[in-house]
Amino acid sequence: MPSASMSGWTKNKRKRKRNMKNNLPEIDVVFDADTIAKRIETLAAEIADKLPEDLLIVVVLRGSFVFAADLLRALDRAGMRPRVDFITLSSYGTRTESSGTVELTRDISEDVKGRSVMIVDDILDSGRTLAFATDLMTARGADSVHTCVLLDKHEKREVSIEADYVGFPVDDLFVVGYGIDMAHLFRSLPFIGVVRQD
Ligand code: 5GP
Ligand code: MG
Repeated sequence: MPSASMSGWTKNKRKRKRNMKNNLPEIDVVFDADTIAKRIETLAAEIADKLPEDLLIVVVLRGSFVFAADLLRALDRAGMRPRVDFITLSSYGTRTESSGTVELTRDISEDVKGRSVMIVDDILDSGRTLAFATDLMTARGADSVHTCVLLDKHEKREVSIEADYVGFPVDDLFVVGYGIDMAHLFRSLPFIGVVRQD
């Protein structure tokens, strides 16, 4: 696993902390930017190999916007020309434990009837969010529904669902960075990390 010292952000952390005069907790790196970029390139090649070129990608906001932006450009390099739409689903609010119900906050505008759809989310945890999005696309008449997540917390599953494409399996840790937040903080970190507990 990459160490925290490999990240430029980590090196500048103390300075930033002083400059910002805030009380942000320290973050330990779990997947650094380079590791994420390499994995996405491989994922995109796998997806381009299997799925139709005119795929409609449905990005689950907000946590997956950075992942989706990098994945889309990797898919383009792999020869795909997908269309993109966005859906906002929420089950966490500002807490660090899922509330258990998924709320559709903002819908897509594309008609999915007869289309091949791939749902992109940041983390597959209990499975409720991905199951909700998959069921919704199927109910609206999508021809096929595929799924891609950056992180898979396999041991937390409460709904029987697996993603077709997974960036990394991850332990049951509350992660932040690379678009993923904790109470709206840390989305801008270029890596994925965990909040240090000590
Ligand atoms: P599920 O519905 O599978 O329980 O949860 C999936 C959603 O919960 C993810 O899309 C993400 O928004 C949120 N989530 C799950 N684990 C984490 C985590 O470790 N950190 C953050 N910030 N969000 C998480
Ligand atoms: Mg989410």
